[in-house]
This record gives sequence, C-alpha cells and structure tokens, in this order.
Amino acid sequence: MDAVDVLIAGAGPTGLTLACDLARQGVACRIVDQSAGPGGGGRGFSLKPRSLAAFDDLGLAAAVTTAGSVERRTRFHQGTRRLFQLDTPPAPVTGTEPYPNVVALPQWRTEELLRDRLAELGGKVEFGRRVTGVAGGEVTLADGERVRARFVVGADGGRSTVRRLLDVPFTGRTDQDTRAMISDVRLTGLDPAGGVSMWLSADRGVAVARPVADTGVWQVVTSLGPHLAGDQETLQRLLVERSGLPGLRITEVLWHSVWRYNVRIAERFRVGPVFLAGDAAHVHSPFGGHGMNTGIQDAYNLGWKLGMVIRGLLPERVLESYEAERMPVARAILADSDQRMSGMMRWRFARPLAGPLLKRGFARQQRVTRRDHPVYPAGPLIGDGGGQPAPDGSLPTGARLFDLFRGSHFTVLGPGAVPGLDPDLVHVHRVGGDFRVVRPDGYLALTARTPGPVRDYFDRLTVARSVPVSLLQGRIRGGSTLAE
Ligand SMILES: Cc1cc2nc3c(=O)[nH]c(=O)nc-3n(C[C@H](O)[C@H](O)[C@H](O)COP(=O)(O)OP(=O)(O)OC[C@H]3O[C@@H](n4cnc5c(N)ncnc54)[C@H](O)[C@@H]3O)c2cc1C
Repeated sequence: MDAVDVLIAGAGPTGLTLACDLARQGVACRIVDQSAGPGGGGRGFSLKPRSLAAFDDLGLAAAVTTAGSVERRTRFHQGTRRLFQLDTPPAPVTGTEPYPNVVALPQWRTEELLRDRLAELGGKVEFGRRVTGVAGGEVTLADGERVRARFVVGADGGRSTVRRLLDVPFTGRTDQDTRAMISDVRLTGLDPAGGVSMWLSADRGVAVARPVADTGVWQVVTSLGPHLAGDQETLQRLLVERSGLPGLRITEVLWHSVWRYNVRIAERFRVGPVFLAGDAAHVHSPFGGHGMNTGIQDAYNLGWKLGMVIRGLLPERVLESYEAERMPVARAILADSDQRMSGMMRWRFARPLAGPLLKRGFARQQRVTRRDHPVYPAGPLIGDGGGQPAPDGSLPTGARLFDLFRGSHFTVLGPGAVPGLDPDLVHVHRVGGDFRVVRPDGYLALTARTPGPVRDYFDRLTVARSVPVSLLQGRIRGGSTLAE
C-alpha cells in the first residue's frame, strides 16, 4: 500500500490551493480527482483581495492578475429599460494594499493557473481517480488502489463523498424551486465593452451576461424557477425575453449547468485525521462571490498547519484550530449570502423608480466585497492585538513585507532580538515599533511591547511537538522557501 503524508480528494480551487501550499513545503502529497481531465465552467468568477494575497504568497498572484481583469461597469435593466449603470473605477494599488480590487477570472482559468503552479512545485493532479472509501487515514480509490495517508482532506465539492463516508451531517436546506442555468457561451448582439449586463424583471426572472475579458466568451446566468426546463433552447429564449434584445443570439454553448439553491454546512470540519474544506464543508448562494474564495481560504488556513505538523515544527493539536477558525467564518458567510439572495429575490420585483435605491445597494455591496476578509477570534494561535490580516508595506531597507512573509514560516517584526526561536519556524526581522508576530497565512497573531509575550506565544505553541513522520521516512525536502 502506498503511503503519503496527505491525500487530497478533489482538484477544484480548494484542493489545488492546498496542494500548492503543501508542495512548496516539501510535504509528500497526492491530489486525486474523479473527472477524466480538466474542465468545468466559469462558475466562481471573483477573486477577492485576500485570495490574491494568498496567491501572492503561493507564487501565482502575478499570473492571476495578468490573466484576469477588474470589472468596471455593470448595467442594470428592468426588462428592456435601462435602470442605471454602475461604474466602478479600480481602487489604486498602494504600498500597504497591493491587491485592492476584486479580479474577475473564470474558475476554469484559475484552476488552470493553480495546476501550472503545482507543476512548477513538482506536483500533479491524478485525474480519473475517484475516492470511494475512507477509513481513518486509509483511502480506497475506485480502481481498487488503497493509500495510507497520515491526513486526508475532502475537498471534493458540495456532494462530497468524503463527507458522506464520514457520516458528517450537512445541515441546512435545499430549495428545489430556486434554480438557475449557468452557461459559458459565445454570442452575438452584445458589446463586451458595455461590461456586465443584468436584467431584473418582475414576471420574467433575472438574466446576467458577463464578458470574459479577451476571450469572446460570456458567462450567462438565468433564473429558472421550479417549472422551466434547464436546456439550451430555454436559455436562448429566456435571454431574448428578459433582455428584450431579439438580436441576441447564442452561437455556441461551451459549458452548461443547472444550479439549485443550497445553504448547508457540515457539522464537523474534521473527524480524526480527515478534514473537510471548501464546498465539501459549506455551500451557499453565489451572491457575494464567496464560494471559491472561502475554499481558497480554508485551504490556506489548513495548509501551513498540516505542513508544520508534518515537518515536526508544531504539535498535532494545532490542527484543532482549523475548525475553530474556519467554521465561524463559514457560518457568517452562509448568513450573508442568504441575506443577499433574499434581497435579490425582492429586487426582482422592483419598480423602475427603485433604480437609485438599487444603485446605492449594489455600490455598497461592491465596496463590502472588496474589503471582505474574516477576522479570527482570540485563541491559541491569536493573541493580543491579533486576528486581522497583516498589511503589506516597505521597510527602510527597501524590503517589502509580503516578500518577508512569503513561505511557510511565522514572521516576527520587532525592535530587538527574540532569543531561542527555531529559525525553521520563525523568521525575525528588525523593525522599529512594537513586536508583531505574523502567521504563515498572513494574519497578525500578536502585538507586544517587549519580546517576552512573543517568546511565550511560541513556547505555548510548540510545547509537545509531535514526531515528524515524514522526516523519519526521509521524504521532506526542506523547510521554508523564503529567499532573503
Ligand atoms: C453560478 C455560480 C457562480 C459562482 N460565483 C462565484 C464567485 O464569483 N466567487 C466565488 O468565490 N465562488 C463562486 N461560486 C462558487 C464556486 O464555484 C465554488 O464554491 C467552488 O467551485 C468550490 O471549490 P471546491 O474546490 O471546494 O469544490 P469544487 O470546485 O466543486 O471541486 C471539487 C472537485 O472534487 C472532485 N470530486 C468530487 N467527488 C470526488 C471523489 N469522490 N473523488 C475524487 N474527486 C472528487 C470534482 O470532480 C471536483 O473537481 C459560484 C458558483 C456558481 C454555481
């Protein structure tokens, strides 16, 4: 039986982010996916600033921002009548905020870039490999192969096999009557320069057409209600009816899916050595653009913890913080997206006069979405003054903070030395002001006037380190990847 440190089930954005994070730490990891090969549609389109900061750390932010675009314009219509146009100039990049905007990139492209990065780090997705059994750390694949993994991560989407095998309830509700068609298409009759078009209509539902920059492809979403067929003829008909544009013609459907409204959360994110992440742990409405971003953040929260435990730098109990930190975030996101969804259902019935109100509401939502990041509460990994993402900045030496943070290690910034810290675990840099401890996922863990609390923080964290199985097996390539 093959043995591995981590087996990841599912190579969507969640599984791929985790695989990149583990691969850069030299952790022996396999990532399997039941699909025959890469595919899937646009789906998750918005990469938020926190996801971009994670990608910066993982070494793919430049590729993502180059491939993506910042959406500047959305036009809202009530039937054929234009209600208003929302222009959103991109926020300026600053020294403390290198990623101030939401980047639009179809999910298939984000996944492609993640796979490219994984390949650079020496990893590879095993397509056509379905997980059918999980018993503790023993995983069975559909072809009968059995793999022993120290840790298993179910990143296998909303219908997660891993979650079902663990018998973890997926609590919430499914509304069979609230459905939508999501398609990637080529079309004629709309100008991509007009940006995103949204048609809201009292009796005929909602339609959205969003151009994918520089591709000639559009993502089209149409609400369906309980009775309409989810086929391509219906898609064409609804688009023309709702837009009032008889010349709007779909010339090619590249990908097509029907979505049902689900708001659900797994009652546990961890059972022994098995973790759930991304849609396998929580699903909700697409409003707020949370889904893919939350999965990326789940993976980024779990990646350094698993890696440091496997590398023997932290004790296994650190892994308890994954559910403690991520479950409240998921609950808050479920509530937020549910609220936005209800708001959307109300706006469908808006009268033209409600235009200014709608415009204010959408503009506010866009601002909130840009600034959207979870705050972690005090706990073993978050001390006084911590819990927020640490901003970027530059030091008098010219060094950029995000460059100092890059890699799976803690960073201490402070006016003096902190004796006794393990250099594989913590990188220390002399900077004026208070001592600040930054976690490997870029969250501020602690601020302190003196080095004492910093020392105490790491003493508490590292007490009773576990035996590094991978080191015993001789499979760790090395520690941090930070090059200073
Ligand atoms: C219309 C729409 C718009 C959206 N817009 C946004 C947005 O703007 N921003 C955003 O952040 N999110 C958005 N989302 C949500 C986003 O698409 C999902 O949240 C995201 O795909 C979740 O990623 P994941 O990796 O957790 O799961 P998935 O992407 O579902 O990936 C799971 C993978 O696991 C594989 N798998 C399943 N079972 C097994 C098994 N037994 N063994 C091996 N492999 C398996 C699957 O083949 C799949 O590749 C949107 C979703 C929809 C439907």
